[in-house]
Amino acid sequence: MPQGDEQEPPRRVRGRLRQAMTPDPPAAGTAVAPHDWRAARFMVIVAHPDDADFGPAATASRWIDAGSVGRLVCCTSGDQGGEDPELDPLALAATREAEQRRAAAVVGYDEVRFLHQPDGALANELPLRELLVREIREFRPDAVFTHDPEVLFYRGSGVNHTDHRAAGIAAVDAVYPAARNPMAFPNLARAGFAPHKVRRLYLFWPGTSTAWVDVGAAIERKIEALRCHESQLTVDSAFEQRMRDWAAEDGRAIGVAAAEAFRAIVIDDDEDTPAPTE
Ligand SMILES: [Zn+2]
Repeated sequence: MPQGDEQEPPRRVRGRLRQAMTPDPPAAGTAVAPHDWRAARFMVIVAHPDDADFGPAATASRWIDAGSVGRLVCCTSGDQGGEDPELDPLALAATREAEQRRAAAVVGYDEVRFLHQPDGALANELPLRELLVREIREFRPDAVFTHDPEVLFYRGSGVNHTDHRAAGIAAVDAVYPAARNPMAFPNLARAGFAPHKVRRLYLFWPGTSTAWVDVGAAIERKIEALRCHESQLTVDSAFEQRMRDWAAEDGRAIGVAAAEAFRAIVIDDDEDTPAPTE
């Protein structure tokens, strides 16, 4: 029987995500400015369909509205995300891919890529890293959003799904050093996928938050995107309010109405290596 949040009732999914998404509030009296750096091109790498929409969907929407180009990469197609052991996993995967494509259109991604890795059995091994390096070198993002791989236990209670941790560390390892190293997977460079430097990582559902993005009205786009995952979620008024409450809670860290919190990792500082112009 599969295990993890993908198989559990939405209420428990939301409870766990809330624990993961709870930001560390700034120390009393400490003024924190909204995070205002924006990538011209960004990639979101997640384990399952719906992770990106619970994760950085509002930030992605806001950045895309401001002119960024975003792409979504799902390592699995969520083929264990059900309650019925008689269910055909391939049929469920097709349903979840279709749901994720609709949600991605709401957010505004240019494309969704599915790597078709096994749900519940994702592993940070060389074949997955190579697939991710290929995606990164093709799309050439300035920033990559992914799961915080260092979160094993959520604050309070709950275990972070093994696929979330595996996707997060695989994405980090693909970003640095493999994507930028010409001698990593030389078959890719020989096939035309030239090395590429991703400048920043944004880890969502972070253990320790360091950056809060003011998402404003984009929280409504996040809710609309979540509404597309009909096989997993019932987006009723209580769910909608919960999402708005979470965003408001994150927003209080920077004094705005709605925010998303991340652990931001700068790999190439703009002062040392000027960012490419948009
Ligand atoms: Zn997930």
